[in-house]
Amino acid sequence: MSDVFSTEKRSEVMRAIKSKNTKTTELKMMEIFKELHIKGWRRTYPLTGKPDFVFPKKRIAVFVDGCFWHGHDCRNVTPSTNSVFWNAKRDYNKRHDAFVTETLQKKAWTVLRIWECELKKKNREKLLEKISSLILEK
Ligand SMILES: [Zn+2]
Repeated sequence: MSDVFSTEKRSEVMRAIKSKNTKTTELKMMEIFKELHIKGWRRTYPLTGKPDFVFPKKRIAVFVDGCFWHGHDCRNVTPSTNSVFWNAKRDYNKRHDAFVTETLQKKAWTVLRIWECELKKKNREKLLEKISSLILEK
């Protein structure tokens, strides 16, 4: 299959997707925390895997993972061209995510991995279930 992007162009595209994605999902998560009066989170806490949100007192690390980059099977997010490349990238991310989760759990952290699609209003119930440990009082 032919490659529509040059290597340089592809890196550019990847960076654009990544930064855009990160920003919107994290902002959405922050809005939800606010809505639910969830407090005590930190944005930049020095921890393995750089969690998106860390609750130091509760020892909970929250990752908000983009469905595309982290290989969620919720929808078909594979671009028709260059699927070998994208699949390799996502396989790497999945392995890395698993490694980070395991490392943190060994250090007695609770790891919550939230999918980007779970931030949608229609999936709110599922999300609430996932983050119930954040809502409950210490
Ligand atoms: Zn998803």
